[in-house]
Amino acid sequence: MVAVPVTLRTGPGTHSTAPTTHPAHPAHPGAPLVDRFGRVHRDLRISLTDRCSLRCTYCMPEQGNEWLARTSILSTDEIVRVAEVAAASGITTFRLTGGEPLLRTDIVDVVRRLAVIEGPDGPVEIAMTTNGIRLDEFLPRLIDAGLQRLNISIDTLDRDRFRELTRRDRIDDVRAGIAAAAASGLRPLKLNAVAMRGVNDDELTDLVAFALDHGAEMRFIEQMPLDAGHTWDRTRMVTRDEILTSLATRWHLEPVPGRGGAPAERFLLDGGPAAVGVIASVTAPFCGACDRLRLTADGQLRNCLFSNDEYDLMPLLRAGAGNVAIDALLHDCVAGKLPGHAIDDPSFLQPTRGMNAIGG
Ligand code: SAM
Repeated sequence: MVAVPVTLRTGPGTHSTAPTTHPAHPAHPGAPLVDRFGRVHRDLRISLTDRCSLRCTYCMPEQGNEWLARTSILSTDEIVRVAEVAAASGITTFRLTGGEPLLRTDIVDVVRRLAVIEGPDGPVEIAMTTNGIRLDEFLPRLIDAGLQRLNISIDTLDRDRFRELTRRDRIDDVRAGIAAAAASGLRPLKLNAVAMRGVNDDELTDLVAFALDHGAEMRFIEQMPLDAGHTWDRTRMVTRDEILTSLATRWHLEPVPGRGGAPAERFLLDGGPAAVGVIASVTAPFCGACDRLRLTADGQLRNCLFSNDEYDLMPLLRAGAGNVAIDALLHDCVAGKLPGHAIDDPSFLQPTRGMNAIGG
């Protein structure tokens, strides 16, 4: 048994150390990442930076954001090290996110080095969630480096709305990124939109049509209490049922069975093969099948988007600890996972970090 103290953080800059309360160290390094509820973890979301080229109102404040110190950002060597250990314990997919992953200057190198890691079933899969800005410029090199799947975020097709929502006039850059992805061979290609009342809820069918025109699948996300400005208001959230009602005005929707651990509930449009997805984290949580872990840009492991507990890899990585210790912390993180996110519990506290610093 490997004994590693777990450092829990309640938010950037507020460290506290607590002992592990669960005897869940693996019997041997490389044991599968199975939690107390039998969920096997296969998906590691890696945030490459907390910085972003947009300032979406539901994610970041316009000004006054406290950025992570550059010295606390994981180097590419450190990311690869954690990824190798995670893959040896059963992680099969790395999703690169942020902040905006394309702001990382060595993004192509990061992809190239992760793509050659062997998981339990062969090479790992490399996916990325991006706002698409400068994707047209990077995409050929990213594909050459081993990128396999893309999710691109676009919440509105209207220039003025886009500028208001993202506080940046960059819709043409996002569209160029989507066009480049559409022209590439990367499939399935997914487009993400957060559905918001009075902002884009009259555009849901247009967004689906736009995705179909680009050979992509539209995903609608319920707005979650993860904005750095703590402005989330349940009454502004467009629910799964409202999204489906809106889409049903244009298409017959047929549920796709076999969701597995996927966040999106999928529906065929008029019998398929085209489909749409809804990620209803708030009104229809899917925690029971969650297989995801997160690594923040500053080296914190998280077992849930909504948790305030973090497992600090930095002291291990920067003090020359061996892979066994890194593996043990991964298992501690999994062992500490709760059955669900408890957004509806009156005692729920929004994570101190904004989504940009967690990694969506
Ligand atoms: N910058 C990249 C992008 O725009 O896709 C990756 C990071 S972003 C945090 C990842 C995803 O999280 C985006 O699709 C974004 O819309 C979504 N997101 C951010 N804040 C959210 C919130 N409060 N509720 C729901 N989704 C959110």
